[in-house]
Amino acid sequence: MTGIDDLPIRDELRGKSPYGAPQLDVPVRLNTNENPHPLPEALVARIAERVTEAARHLNRYPDRDAVELRTELARYLTRTAGYGVAAENVWAANGSNEVLQQLLQAFGGPGRTALGFEPSYSMHALIARGTGTGWLSGPREADFRIDVAAARAVIAERRPHVVFVCSPNNPTGTAVGADTVLALYEAAQAARPSLVVVDEAYGEFSHRPSLLPLLDGRPNLVVSRTMSKAFGAAGLRLGYLAAAPAVVDAVQLVRLPYHLSAVTQATALAALEHTGTLLGYVEQLKAERDRLVTELRAMGCEVTDSDANFVQFGRFDGPGGAHAVWQALLERGVLVRDNGVPGRLRVTAGTPAENDAFLDAVRAVLKESNR
Ligand SMILES: *Cc1c(COP(=O)(O)O)cnc(C)c1O
Repeated sequence: MTGIDDLPIRDELRGKSPYGAPQLDVPVRLNTNENPHPLPEALVARIAERVTEAARHLNRYPDRDAVELRTELARYLTRTAGYGVAAENVWAANGSNEVLQQLLQAFGGPGRTALGFEPSYSMHALIARGTGTGWLSGPREADFRIDVAAARAVIAERRPHVVFVCSPNNPTGTAVGADTVLALYEAAQAARPSLVVVDEAYGEFSHRPSLLPLLDGRPNLVVSRTMSKAFGAAGLRLGYLAAAPAVVDAVQLVRLPYHLSAVTQATALAALEHTGTLLGYVEQLKAERDRLVTELRAMGCEVTDSDANFVQFGRFDGPGGAHAVWQALLERGVLVRDNGVPGRLRVTAGTPAENDAFLDAVRAVLKESNR
């Protein structure tokens, strides 16, 4: 049978694996940072209504510029992120992964490079590869914060065209302060005028305010957001960015025409009518996250401070490392994530019952390994 390597595929894709968080059917799934709460019934009904209305016009292409949706996203950001933006500052796509891909298509690409501070969201590097953008891995401190002096040095030396800052960072949960982002932005502009992308996929879960106000007077700064996490709508596929209007003009040069289906736009608009209810779960999840941190520490785990809806914990340096613990938890019906960070795993805050099941499983695994 023909394998990938027999195909005339691009050299840089040979021998590579696709993004692959396992989608396993186990009782407790805490591996992909989804919101554990299904959408409220009132919202499900509103989605059905809006989608029904959209279905009446599916013979036509959707609003190519998604103006109504971008207006509502701008209103949401203005209300919650402490900085006023309008539709012209906002762009939406099928998940923030597509937003990031469009940014790299427009600002990265062959002969250009993007820098991220690892460990971080693995899709930044994968989207760089997919768009032919060179990838540069920048350093973090032992506690996973960004080492500002080292970061500035890398930026000055390598002069990347795009710099990713993930805050709160996935998979560590680490929030990045405005002062750090400003230092990196200034270093990046001094090296060459480059785009700085702040990935705030978990922004709503943070103790810190959004970095959105930093957009003021910074034309090469972008904040990306998603409805996949705080809104509990991972299945919807809706991500968005806020930036200067020129950045929005730039991504329109590379987006596919009619990339956001009328069904997606209608569903997202329905969800935005219910932000109050949806974000109600955020406070509950933050409390559960804090409980996971406390209880894991009480068991003797090393836990990274988290501003997100997940917690990085370890250290598992025994035989088989973190992966052996991942496997042992799976055997107890609990799926967490092994992001490849040595000695550490990541667990998503679930419902209180799911978190109890997870904590019981960790206790049992630790007890077993101490025998
Ligand atoms: C989950 C996640 C995304 C979002 O992905 P979507 O495509 O919007 O579902 C983006 N960035 C980070 C850091 C994430 O963890």
